[in-house]
Amino acid sequence: MGTHVQLNTGAKMPIIGLGTWKSAPNKVKDAVKAAIDAGYRHIDGAYIYENESEIGDAIAEKFKEGVVKREDLFVVSKLWCTFHEKSVVKKTCQKTLSDLKLDYLDLYLIHWPMGFKAGDVGFPLDKKGLVLPSNTNFLDTWEGMEELVDAGLVKAIGVSNFNHKQLESILNKPGLKYKPANNQIECHPYLTQEKLIKYCHSNGISVTAYSPLGSPDRPWAKPEDPSLLEDDAMKTIAAKHKKTPAQVLIRFHIQRNTIVIPKSVTSSRIAENFQVFDFELSQEEMDTILSFNRNWRACPMQWGVEHKDYPFNEEY
Ligand code: NAP
Repeated sequence: MGTHVQLNTGAKMPIIGLGTWKSAPNKVKDAVKAAIDAGYRHIDGAYIYENESEIGDAIAEKFKEGVVKREDLFVVSKLWCTFHEKSVVKKTCQKTLSDLKLDYLDLYLIHWPMGFKAGDVGFPLDKKGLVLPSNTNFLDTWEGMEELVDAGLVKAIGVSNFNHKQLESILNKPGLKYKPANNQIECHPYLTQEKLIKYCHSNGISVTAYSPLGSPDRPWAKPEDPSLLEDDAMKTIAAKHKKTPAQVLIRFHIQRNTIVIPKSVTSSRIAENFQVFDFELSQEEMDTILSFNRNWRACPMQWGVEHKDYPFNEEY
């Protein structure tokens, strides 16, 4: 089982990255430094997480200490939904780069297929609590993304939360210059994504699994929601390998050749989540874990259900 996944650009993407959504600005710097010290070489960020400047500080310190060089790291960010207008893609990417204090990203993703009304508000909502759409089209946004590659601001481009029909429309776009290199999607034993992963892999699109631990710190969590980390079946498999449920949840993706980005701001957990290259789940255990699928989403983006490009009304 490899430590990297090869992208359709030829680049190698480290199979584990540190997630940074909800990582408070005063904690994320130490988290990124702890991750790099523990061996992580891939950091997953986004404009909307409002912590890219602190992530940039951490990376700069590790460069200064001589622990890593720029080419050792794989840094990912995402274009937020209020910036889908083709003409603003470049300056939005440049803002992320200046916060990160980097001169290129390894991978830049369209965060969601849905364009939101432009402006200072990240989630512009109507009176019913539904998101206000923009009249943008993600195929035009994609052209803006392609320009970033040509300008040298990003090494690779991809998408996130796209269903297979939306991917297909990019792949079939007249004049397509670069195919998406990656689709970052929610994936874990309660949302196993077999069809979408198969579609992506057979079209040369790598997959990154987000919320691999079920995102227990998501702001809208309800006590009655299912919990992967507390799941007895996961605990049983973990105990058999003398590993933690989190380590099994992470290893599951590695054995599917899927990139995985657990988030933590706790240095002991950051280290624990990387200790997953010294054991292997059997085929039977993999099949058992896949059988836990219940199509449950930690991140259903419920404000977007009426948006024309809401991705989760399709089966996959
Ligand atoms: P997650 O990684 O599934 O879970 C994070 C939570 O698990 C935190 O509360 C963390 O606590 C806890 N945790 C981490 N390691 C643990 C361990 N070993 N034992 C017990 N608890 C542990 O959730 P996520 O943040 O939703 O997803 C991961 C990353 O995916 C995000 O941070 C983000 O980078 C990305 N993401 C992308 C999208 C998208 O739309 N593209 C959506 C969601 C997420 P502490 O931090 O307190 O240690």
